Amino acid sequence: MNRGLTSNGGYAIHSGMSRQPNRPEAIWKQVTNYGDPDKCWEWKGYVGTSGYGRITINYKDELVHRIAFQLSRGDVPFGLFVCHECDNKICCNPDHLWLGTAADNNLDCVSKGRKVCGDQHWTRVYPEKVARGNKNGARLHPEKLSRGDQHWTRLYPDLVARGKRSGQHTHPERTARGERNGNAKLTKDQIFEIFAYHKLGWSQKQLAEHFGVLQANISRILRGVLWKPITQPLLALIKAGKL
Ligand SMILES: [Zn+2]
Repeated sequence: MNRGLTSNGGYAIHSGMSRQPNRPEAIWKQVTNYGDPDKCWEWKGYVGTSGYGRITINYKDELVHRIAFQLSRGDVPFGLFVCHECDNKICCNPDHLWLGTAADNNLDCVSKGRKVCGDQHWTRVYPEKVARGNKNGARLHPEKLSRGDQHWTRLYPDLVARGKRSGQHTHPERTARGERNGNAKLTKDQIFEIFAYHKLGWSQKQLAEHFGVLQANISRILRGVLWKPITQPLLALIKAGKL
């Protein structure tokens, strides 16, 4: 494989002799059975350690099946994954690709003896969305961290459901006890899904039912009060129009 430095200083990985950046459409020249609706369109180019085809497009490392999906069906909404119906990781036939949540992807993979990890994990699919170190919301906007008298429980004491108004009293059946209980009822991936579903138009009530948590907590997540290390950077991205 040709792995040469381009004049721009970026790597033109696996792009044959071309020194031009790859265009997304370039992937169709490197698949078998292109256009045959009944067959897997198998990627003939570079395959990463995860087993998925990879290509550098405009100096960015991309998953080939995601590009195939985007070219045929449009952008992948944030938080969703491109899954294989055919279980053939190098397949690029758009008819074999479907959009799933991290949970779908997990289920799909678990049922096939795999797990979402490595290159399919959101932190690799969206590395720029992982706020680390100085990019972390707490460091970028320390003034936004509400502490002490600025904390919402002090600013809006009437919003704090205590005593008889507490969810445990008003909806005792919703209190997760025993095995269902746990300090973290949601996973990191689910926080992303909540934002993704919300963007797709789900109401807070629907989200609460789907994830088995109180609507108040969905609201707190969407407002960045809970899960701050994830929700604050997400809200910052939404505010900046990047999500
Ligand atoms: Zn296929």
